[in-house]
Parts: sequence; C-alpha cells; structure tokens
Amino acid sequence: MAVPIRSCAGCGRKAPKAELLRFAGFSGELRASPASPGRGAYTCRRLSCFERALSLRAFNRTLRTQVRVDTALRDLYTDADG
Ligand SMILES: [Zn+2]
Repeated sequence: MAVPIRSCAGCGRKAPKAELLRFAGFSGELRASPASPGRGAYTCRRLSCFERALSLRAFNRTLRTQVRVDTALRDLYTDADG
C-alpha cells in the first residue's frame, strides 16, 4: 500500500503524512488535528515552516476557509534549529 504523501504548507516539501503535523479548521479556528475528517493542512515539524505558512496565509488557502491562528500553536514545534 502506498504511503500517503502530503505537502508542507510552508516550504512546499512533500513528505509522508506521518512526518508532518496536521491542522484543520474548527469553527474558524486553526487547531492541530491528527485525524479529523475533511480537509487538512500540513507542515513539516519545523517552526519556520509554520511561520512561513502563516505569512503566506497558506492555512486559509489550503483549508479553503478563513481560520484564526492561535500563536500557542507554535508550542507544537519543539525543534531548536527551525
Ligand atoms: Zn516545510
């Protein structure tokens, strides 16, 4: 069975789904969501990709809706070299 490949909303890198963080929109708010139904947006596990996705408004574009992004989501990224 093929491994699902997704693109990072920040840098555009394609990677196996399991390597990426998944987000989805709930009532207009972006939340980390490993397995909710429907449309998801992905980033690498690097804070720089999250920041880049934010500045590109890539979450809105990928999810096809306007989402508010809580900056506490940055805490999901634990890398030091971002
Ligand atoms: Zn990335």
